[in-house]
Amino acid sequence: MTTSHQDDAVRPAPIDCEVAVRRLWDYLDGRLPEIARAEVEAHLESCAHCPPHFDFARTMQRALAASSPPAADGDEDQLRERVRAALRRLADESR
Ligand SMILES: [Zn+2]
Repeated sequence: MTTSHQDDAVRPAPIDCEVAVRRLWDYLDGRLPEIARAEVEAHLESCAHCPPHFDFARTMQRALAASSPPAADGDEDQLRERVRAALRRLADESR
């Protein structure tokens, strides 16, 4: 883990919806590097149809955390894969 505080060294690059959605779970889990998170946030501010997806995923994540017993890693991965596929379809449809 390197800590760099050079403001002008890294700047959020424009990303498209596909990239934003691909980073969705890591973003919600707080696992994205700072620059990647900034890129996602910049995209959400300028995009009309990604924010609802992120809201939906966040709501679902909370609901799952509240309602389900701790799942084995494999189960969780499978579930995420399904949700991810569903979100990808949504992103395609609203394009
Ligand atoms: Zn978008």
